[in-house]
Amino acid sequence: MVVPRLIERKRDGEALEPGAWRALIHAYAAGQVPDYQMAAMAMAVVFRGMSPDELNELVDAMLSSGERLDFSGYSLPRVDKHSIGGVGDKTSLLLAPMLACCGVAVPMISGRGLGHTGGTLDKLEAIPGFRTQLSLVEARAQLDRLGVVMLGQTPELVPADRKLYALRDVTGTVESVPLIAASIMSKKLAEDLTGLVLDIKMGNGAFLTDPVLSRRLAETMIGIGEARGCRTVCLMTAMDRPLGRACGNALETAEAIRGLMGQGPPDLMEVTYALGVEMLLVGGVTAERREARRRLEDLVSSGEALDKLEHLVAAQGGDSRVVRDPDRLPRAPVIESVRAPDDDTVIEIDPRAIGHAIIRLGGGRAKADDVVDPAVGFVIPVKPGDRVSAGQLVGTVHARDAAGAEAGVAALRRAIRFGERARAWPLISHRVTAEGVVTL
Ligand code: URA
Repeated sequence: MVVPRLIERKRDGEALEPGAWRALIHAYAAGQVPDYQMAAMAMAVVFRGMSPDELNELVDAMLSSGERLDFSGYSLPRVDKHSIGGVGDKTSLLLAPMLACCGVAVPMISGRGLGHTGGTLDKLEAIPGFRTQLSLVEARAQLDRLGVVMLGQTPELVPADRKLYALRDVTGTVESVPLIAASIMSKKLAEDLTGLVLDIKMGNGAFLTDPVLSRRLAETMIGIGEARGCRTVCLMTAMDRPLGRACGNALETAEAIRGLMGQGPPDLMEVTYALGVEMLLVGGVTAERREARRRLEDLVSSGEALDKLEHLVAAQGGDSRVVRDPDRLPRAPVIESVRAPDDDTVIEIDPRAIGHAIIRLGGGRAKADDVVDPAVGFVIPVKPGDRVSAGQLVGTVHARDAAGAEAGVAALRRAIRFGERARAWPLISHRVTAEGVVTL
């Protein structure tokens, strides 16, 4: 394999020969292809795309770059969900414990922050001591004991995605239907799932801002999952404003915990319940949507889901006291308020701008080895369409120091726009399955 020739071929818009993706990905995972060549190849894919045969080979190569969880002889359904990008999206932290209370095993492999979006692993690691790098044996043992485990790609599990994901994060190569589909589906197929629910974001904060590409991504991932025996369902949800109020790792973890205490913001809870209902349906726990929703709501009101999260945090080495008292999570030393200048209507809260501002505050990565500050971020209590009065609080900035706070205030002022009429995507707009698309 001569890697420069493969890059040139892709750069010129040709499909690679059968076997080439497999060889390339395995060599990359083994450290035999340098990051600069893989970054050039990823950029060529961003511009030139991949044929369906190439994509299938890429998915299988990434999957076979490591081990898979093995569930032969296991009786419970295994279901997971994955949200494709997003700012303020902390639904995984609510859903994993909820579903585990319903007799569904949730072996959730997630990622770190990617591009301007946050990642579940960074949110979990905001909990002091929480370990996301588990061995296969540890993951499987915890799943047997608790019904839920939340971990990252490791040298054993999808190592090719572990490397490629970190590389794409810092080389402007996230926004590609085949690269996103292969990254997500290789992780999810390594979990040996019976069912998968995908949350594809729509709007300016999504990776793919063109709705046609979002639809293509949904159909591509459904095709990959269903062809490999995993029932796959997508919901399309709004990301033209942040989800919930908190944006930034520890702030989001605290909001997710409060969601399980019954104090979550309405939009966050609505998306969480909608995804949870789909998970219960693909898991075969019930065929009745209303019953599924009631079960999930009961888990929150009874405190059962919160108890499960507490056990999960303790099992993975985290300080489980944060689950009863989220104020124990890391807190930023400087907090500044932003207030509405006039009586007005909020018409837009730009999630992409908020995501980039979190990176500048130190809450995300500009280089692969950057250390993330868990405490920084924003809390934005308003939504597009809200009327506000002059002087009303529209957001807080959580920063490491005064300079960060000043930059954060400026970014937040730019991200929140006021005016006449708010335009917003419906919170949950479509359900896509192998059978077709339904507008909700
Ligand atoms: N989530 C992933 O795991 N990978 C991507 O490429 C995008 C979102």
